[in-house]
Amino acid sequence: MHELSLSSAIIATAEKHAAGRRVALVTLRVGALRQVVPETLEFYFGFVARGTACEGARLEQEVVDARLRCTPCGTEWDIEVPAFRCPTCGGADVAVASGNEFEVESIEIEEAACIAPR
Ligand SMILES: [Zn+2]
Repeated sequence: MHELSLSSAIIATAEKHAAGRRVALVTLRVGALRQVVPETLEFYFGFVARGTACEGARLEQEVVDARLRCTPCGTEWDIEVPAFRCPTCGGADVAVASGNEFEVESIEIEEAACIAPR
């Protein structure tokens, strides 16, 4: 259900940047650790967008793989199985390097089509 509040946050961000213009496309970067269901997010986005600058806008979601980084040696690796030990030095002092992203990567604005030529 957190997709609903995420949708509101995305639309608020897009509207701020659109500054009164209509938004055609919103591109998101969503970390694999955020447990966002893309179809659910898309559904709520369409719902919340009604009556906003994002009404009718497309939502593109780019999934960012989850990666860990070993603090002492700096090795980074993808998490495919839960293995929170560094494959290089065997240490367990590791931090999540990516996978928690939830950010609006870009928006596209519709060109103003109503400028009357003189
Ligand atoms: Zn290491």
